[in-house]
Amino acid sequence: MTGLEQIVELSHKYGVADYVKGGGGNTSFKDKNTVWVKPSGTTLVSIKAKDFVAMDRAKLGTLNDVIPPADPIEREALVKEYMLNAKLGPDSGRPSVEAPLHNTLDAVFVVHTHPAIVNGMTCAVGGAKVAAALFPEALWIDYVDPGYTLCMKVRDRINNYKAKRSKEPPIIFLDNHGVFISADTPQEIDELFGNVMSLLSEQYKAVGISTELKIGRLPDKNKQESAIAFIKENYPQDEISVHVSGNFPEPKGPISPDHIVYTKSYIFNGTPDREALKDFRRKHGYLPNVIAWDNMVFGIGTTQKKASLALEFAQDGALVSQLAEAFGGIEYLTDSSREFIENWEAESYRSKQL
Ligand SMILES: [Zn+2]
Repeated sequence: MTGLEQIVELSHKYGVADYVKGGGGNTSFKDKNTVWVKPSGTTLVSIKAKDFVAMDRAKLGTLNDVIPPADPIEREALVKEYMLNAKLGPDSGRPSVEAPLHNTLDAVFVVHTHPAIVNGMTCAVGGAKVAAALFPEALWIDYVDPGYTLCMKVRDRINNYKAKRSKEPPIIFLDNHGVFISADTPQEIDELFGNVMSLLSEQYKAVGISTELKIGRLPDKNKQESAIAFIKENYPQDEISVHVSGNFPEPKGPISPDHIVYTKSYIFNGTPDREALKDFRRKHGYLPNVIAWDNMVFGIGTTQKKASLALEFAQDGALVSQLAEAFGGIEYLTDSSREFIENWEAESYRSKQL
C-alpha cells in the first residue's frame, strides 16, 4: 500500500462522527519534499487519493519567514497566496488552512480531528492540567485564532518541545479545538489515538459522566410539524430548511471554531416569534441557526444539509459541555476569539462548500 493509500484509509477511519463532524478535521501524508494535505470543503470520510493537494514543502516553509500584516484579513489573504503558490498541481482543491502546521511536523502521517471525547478536556476549565497529568508526551497549546496565527504559534511550541526532548510531540492538544496525532506509521497513529480516547473515556466513567448525550423523546408528528411551520413563518427568508430533534441542554456559548461555523455562537432559547427573532438578531447580528423551544431543538439552514449540520453541532456542543463537567466545566471562547471566527473568510469558504 502506498503512503497516499494509507492516509486515505486513516482519513476514512478518523472521519466518522466520533472524531469529526461536518467538513472538520484534516489529514496529511508526506515524504521529504512533498506534503499531501486534505483540501478545504471535502469531508475526511469521503476523501479519495486524488483529492489530496500536493504541496511543495520548501515553498510552504517560506511562510515561516514572513512578517505578517497585523490586520487579520490581510494576514489570511497573504497566507492564502503563499499556500496557492506552494501547490504542485494546478487543479487540485484549496489546501486546508492548517497545511503549514502539517508541514512543520516531520512525521509521515498527521491526523487532526475534533472528537467530543477529547474536546470534553480541551474545552474544560481544567483541560491543560488534566492533559499534562494524563498525557506527559503531549504538547498543549492555549487557544489561538485558527489559520496562520495558530500554525506559527504551534510551530514555535513544537521547536521548543524538540529542543527539550529531542523529538516531536506525537500528540498536540489545541485548547477549545481538538487534537493532532502524528507518527511515521498508521499503526502508531492508531495506538496513540486509541490511548487518548480510552484514557479520557476512563476519566469520564470514573466520575459517572456518560459519553453519550441523552436526547429527549420527540413529541408527536403534528406538534413537530406545527412548530416547524411556525419557525418558517417567522423567518424572513422564503426558503429555509428545518431539522428537529428531541430536547437536550443546549450549549450557552461558543465552544470551538467549528461549533461557531455550523451552529453560530449562540443558540436561541424560547418562542421564536418575529419580535423575539428580531431582538436576537439585534443582539448577535444574525438569525439563529439553532432554536431550543418547547422540548425540541431545531437546526435551521438555507439547505437541508446546513440545517442538519447545525443541529448535529449543537448536539456535539452539548456532549462536549457534558463531558467538560469532569474537568471543572465548560470554558467558552472569549468575545475576541469568537469574533475572529465570525469574520473569518477561510471558514466562511468552508461553510459555503457544504
Ligand atoms: Zn481543526
